[in-house]
Amino acid sequence: MQKLPVAFLTIAVVTSSLAARAERPRAALDESPQAETALIPYMPLFAGPARIYYQQGAQPGLDKRISRSVLMTFHGGTILTANKTMAIFWGASWNTLSFAADVLTGIDSFFSGFGNSNYAGNSTEYTGTNGQVTRSSTYLGHVVDTSAVPSSQLSVSTALAEACKITNNNPDPNALYLIYTSNFPGSVSFCAWHSWGNCSNGAPLQVAYMPNLTGIAGCNISDTWTTHSEGLSALANATAHELSETITDPRNGGWYDSNNGENGDKCGYSFSAPVTLSNGAVFKLQMLWSNAAFNNGTGLPNLSGQNGCVQGQ
Ligand SMILES: [Zn+2]
Repeated sequence: MQKLPVAFLTIAVVTSSLAARAERPRAALDESPQAETALIPYMPLFAGPARIYYQQGAQPGLDKRISRSVLMTFHGGTILTANKTMAIFWGASWNTLSFAADVLTGIDSFFSGFGNSNYAGNSTEYTGTNGQVTRSSTYLGHVVDTSAVPSSQLSVSTALAEACKITNNNPDPNALYLIYTSNFPGSVSFCAWHSWGNCSNGAPLQVAYMPNLTGIAGCNISDTWTTHSEGLSALANATAHELSETITDPRNGGWYDSNNGENGDKCGYSFSAPVTLSNGAVFKLQMLWSNAAFNNGTGLPNLSGQNGCVQGQ
């Protein structure tokens, strides 16, 4: 067999690497270390702390919950009785089909079918000073923001400022604005978080930071129940987690246990069956914590063996 010249081999390798890049643009091309400066006019009046959704096996204090932190308690504030959602896809790569794959259409489908679903019904036992959670959820749609994405992880202030920018400082007070960045910065050690705050004019809003989970092992839910891409399955599951927690604890006055575990955290990475939403869309979604199911002995176990998880499928 004739040996190929070294130069030919080099050219072949470079060519195939370029072809792969063209097929799936790297989100790093969307990044800028100066991206936050564009948001200075929208810096929030107030920003809450981040409520972090940890990667698998990384949640601090989880084993302590076995002994001392079973039920969630009410913290004297409001919940979202009828919520709204908006997806903000940040990064120009989201406009490229080969990069976005099934993520945008899949997230649209998730939010469109969440309202009036049995899964949304998992949170309806919880009440706040303003009433009781219902299955009502209105999707305000998605926007793609093609401006540069911060190359480091979003701070709560930056996430709030981005949502205040997109809504022109007029956010819906009952809405969760979920910010799906095209990148997953190297400093990120979690899967997502949610928080709350007020735009510079005082307008209240809730936000979630949803970094791009494609290829992130600690957030991969090993979905063999649907045909969704691995990235969409991980993001839909994280979205269900953050939305459910925002509904039951939008601004820190809602429901969580003595380890700050909210209804998503307490059943993180616990699954029982595929979930069919009200529009027929099917996703693999984690279960959610139900005080009632735990008290009645009708729940399924979380990773600490506490039988308070419900699936609502
Ligand atoms: Zn959480």
